[in-house]
Amino acid sequence: MFEDLSGKSALVTGASGGLGLHFARLLARHGVDVTLAARRQSALDQAGAEIAALGGTAEHLVLDVTDAASVAETLAGRHFDILINNAGISGAGPAAGLSEADWDAVLDTNLKGVFLVAQAVARGMRESGRGGAIVNIASILGHRVAGGVSAYAASKAGVIQLTKALALEWARDGIRVNALCPGYIETDINRDFFATEAGLNLIRRIPQRRLGQPDELDGALLLLASAAGSYITGATIEVDGGHLVSSL
Ligand code: NAD
Repeated sequence: MFEDLSGKSALVTGASGGLGLHFARLLARHGVDVTLAARRQSALDQAGAEIAALGGTAEHLVLDVTDAASVAETLAGRHFDILINNAGISGAGPAAGLSEADWDAVLDTNLKGVFLVAQAVARGMRESGRGGAIVNIASILGHRVAGGVSAYAASKAGVIQLTKALALEWARDGIRVNALCPGYIETDINRDFFATEAGLNLIRRIPQRRLGQPDELDGALLLLASAAGSYITGATIEVDGGHLVSSL
């Protein structure tokens, strides 16, 4: 079903670990030439070696998505068929005490960064004449709220609305723009938290009563990135064990 992905090229941001590296591995397994982008060269080297071990090729780019000059310079003249706009930070903390710097860091990474990278990659998609598929990684916190995540929730709501706006403007260029909204997915950075009492309480509020695993995002990601989703643009897909429909 996803055979058309073979031979395509993809840029994955925030690809040195977590879900970004997972998505990069997934695409590489489907024959995609993956370019990994993240801030640290050492982490990229390790991630690239993992992709190579799968038999794939993975170029790496050191890229800070918050830095417009770095994004424009690094991505100029490059052509990708697929963009997985994944880089993001959480920046939790009660709104009353949230510093301007913390607010800016979250919004700059999660919202401005998604815009800057989408804009630069779309330019190449237009130049190639082939169009492409952009998948923005948002969150169910772009739809609903929780305590202590005001900046994050606002940034992800912005990503969802930005996704729709870009889909509208870029459809004529053959560029599809969609958002994937994961619920709570178990990764290295949150595993310890979800084993605590507070974490277990959160899990009890998910209708399926468990965390998601990274590979449970694969179907939605491949659908949005491939020709299987050729008539899908401006959409959001929630993969959350029913969390968004939990009882009020
Ligand atoms: P993570 O912290 O493991 O990965 C985030 C990646 O983004 C890291 O590789 C980090 O280095 C990179 N990054 C951060 N700032 C960057 C910058 N300025 N420039 C370039 N790269 C930068 O987190 P994750 O759980 O893998 O999250 C990946 C994405 O999925 C994020 O957008 C996150 O908001 C979203 N998400 C995750 C979950 C979850 O449960 N894990 C749920 C919903 C949404």
